[in-house]
Order: sequence, then structure tokens, then C-alpha cells
Amino acid sequence: MVKITIKNLTFGYRSSRILDDLNVQIEDAEVLSLVGPNGSGKTTLIKCIDRILKPKGSIFLDGRELETMKQQEIARQIGYVPQSSSTPLATTVFDTVLMGRRPHINWRVSDFDLDKVAETLELLHLQDLAMRDFAQLSGGQKQKVLIARALAQEPAILLLDEPTSNLDMKHQLDVMETISSLVKEKGISAVMAIHDLNLAARFSDNLVMLKKGKVYAVGTPNELLSERNISDVYGVEAIVMNTLGKPCIVPLRSTNGGVAC
Ligand code: ADP
Repeated sequence: MVKITIKNLTFGYRSSRILDDLNVQIEDAEVLSLVGPNGSGKTTLIKCIDRILKPKGSIFLDGRELETMKQQEIARQIGYVPQSSSTPLATTVFDTVLMGRRPHINWRVSDFDLDKVAETLELLHLQDLAMRDFAQLSGGQKQKVLIARALAQEPAILLLDEPTSNLDMKHQLDVMETISSLVKEKGISAVMAIHDLNLAARFSDNLVMLKKGKVYAVGTPNELLSERNISDVYGVEAIVMNTLGKPCIVPLRSTNGGVAC
């Protein structure tokens, strides 16, 4: 079933057009990755879906236009996970995750909210960190706490902006496995901007490939991650191998085609 339908979405900061007439569908319970070179509009699209930015065109959530919904109503449906490096929070892990309950809290925190926070910490195996300062955590731990904060919101959609940037291999896998199992277990949809094509290939159901603010192609990792598409979109000559049924990209050299930003 379709969760989000994006129709003719256009957005520009000041005069320049950054997203140009995008049409995208996000299905229930799928991991959809937004890929494309730097500056192709991935983060801007995530912010448009979260209504941090106000684009032209329409975004429908379960058939209802987002523009007609109150901010609190949207916050109950859509959880936003920013890059951990851009989120300095001077508070404990528990309180950070409790902040995710804000769209559900009227004027005071209930036992239900506290239980929900504890349950979410356990789900992500973060309970031992509950009383630690967020600022003192490692990059991988911070990213998981920010996912927990969004999850405590009980959203139908998780939006993630580069969830694996600045993480080592083990923590990249840990975060991606967490996202993919949440999607399967809770039936939520995850939409993420991601640079690493090999991680995107391994953990995504579908990809949207952006080039200069337009949708270049939509499809499964096997359909999209061809040597030709990578050359057209990134300006990179690469070899694409098949590993465990998924494309595995080995970049060889930059070419004159593609996009440089
Ligand atoms: P990506 O996430 O694919 O790297 P972004 O969405 O961050 O791309 O950026 C798309 C384009 O929008 C870039 O050209 C970038 O310079 C521009 N841009 C991003 N944020 C702003 C801003 N706050 N003001 C003006 N231009 C911006």
C-alpha cells in the first residue's frame, strides 16, 4: 500500500530551483533510499517531506495532503532523524528519547510516556546508556539514540538524513540493521538520504536516484545500480559486481560526465 505520494514537488531556496517537479511514491513498510551526488537535493527532499521546508506541489500521507494537517498531527506520523554530528544535546539519553514523545504529551509526562521511552531504549539495546550524557556518546551511539527519539514518537514514517555518515564499518552495519529490522517488525516506512551506494544496495527495497534536483530513476538496487547509471549520475566509472544477490560497486575513476557540485 502507498504511504506517501509526492506529486509535482518543486522547491527553491531564494530564486534557484533545487528540486524540480519530483514524483515519488513511498510504500508501506519499505526502506527507500535517496541517492545521488552532493547537492542533488536529497536533504532538501527529506526536509520537504517533514515540512521543515514548504515546497510547491503536493505530498499526500495516507491520501491526506500534508499541507492541510496540523504540525502536531504530522509529528505523530513522521519522525525525523537528523545527522548526529549536527545535533548537540546537553541532556541524558533518557531525556533525549523522551523529547520524541512531545507530539503526544499535553501538559505533563505520563507513566505511559515514560514506559514508551524505556521500551524504545530496550528495543534498540540502549538501556545501559539511559543516564549517560548524550554529548559524551560515540557517533554510532548518538545515531541510535536519535533513531530511538524518533521512534518514541511512534511514527508511521522515519526520515533519516545520512544515518551512517561519520560511522565506522561496524556501526554503519549496526545502524542499517536496526533501521531495516524496525521496518520489518513495526511495519513503518524508512526514507533515508545516503551516500554509500553499497549500504544502500544491501539494505534498501527501492532507490530514488536524484540528479540535479530531478528524479533520474526509481527502482530496486539491482535495477538502478548499473555501471551506466553510475557514470551518468555521478560521473564515475565503476565496476558493478553481484555479491549475495545485491549489486556491489567498485569505483574506478572519475570521468568528465555526471555532476560535480
Ligand atoms: P544533498 O543532500 O543531495 O547533498 P542538498 O539538499 O543538501 O543536497 O542541497 C541541494 C542544493 O541546495 C545544493 O546546491 C545546496 O547548495 C543548496 N542548499 C542547501 N541548503 C541551502 C540553504 N539553506 N540555502 C541555500 N541553498 C541551499
